[in-house]
Order: sequence, then C-alpha cells, then structure tokens
Amino acid sequence: TNQSGLARGYFDQAGLDAIHRTMAAHLEGAGAWLSGVFFCPHGPDDGCVCRKPLPGLIDQIVAEYGDVTGVPMVGDSLRDLEAGVARGCRPVLVLTGKGRRTLDKGLPETLGPVDVYDSLAGFVDQFLKDPS
Ligand SMILES: [Zn+2]
Repeated sequence: TNQSGLARGYFDQAGLDAIHRTMAAHLEGAGAWLSGVFFCPHGPDDGCVCRKPLPGLIDQIVAEYGDVTGVPMVGDSLRDLEAGVARGCRPVLVLTGKGRRTLDKGLPETLGPVDVYDSLAGFVDQFLKDPS
C-alpha cells in the first residue's frame, strides 16, 4: 500500500503498526494470516521507487517470496494495477473504495485483461474456489 500519510504526518509508524496488528488479528480470527505487509511511507514528491504505480513494492515482495508472475494484484486504483502489471501480476480491480471511479474513467489497454469484482470479499471467495 501507499501510506503517504506517514510522510504527511497524518499518522506515525506506531499508528500504522497498530492498524496492521488489528488487520492481522481479524484475519487470524477468520483462520487466515498475513505473510507480510509492504508499504511505501513516502510522499508523492519524495522521488522513491516504491510508491505505486512504480513497482518498487512488488520488487520487495519478489525479493522476499520469489516470482510473482500471474499472482493477482488486487486494488481499487489504476496505480495498484499498473504496479502489479509492471512485474507480471494479474490485475484485479475491486469496485469498493475508489474502484467504481477507476472503472468509470476507463482502464488503459496496456493493462491487458482486468478481472473486476464488486469487493475484495467477492474476489477472495472466487479465488479460494479456483486459484488459477
Ligand atoms: Zn516509497
């Protein structure tokens, strides 16, 4: 995730860590787990390589877990999908958050085929049935 709120001073690392712990606890309560959380702490003018749509975060994931070709990159913004596609991920747009607006603006053909789901839960349900 892009977390420019860190650079902008909207919240601090302890606050973000607390959000991640809460997210992990909810997932564990549902029988799932997080292998990792990758985020860009920089602002848009910091010139980093990890702020989506640049694929630096995906490169960090590849360095830790290996090739991500064909792995779903789920997001609600064009920049999410672009970051994933840059490293061979399969783009999945969810219509929650900014997703509806992203779809209405039109998706560039450079993304290739994009799977669209009403929500992250909808994608997860389908993915668990058929991960291919
Ligand atoms: Zn960054």
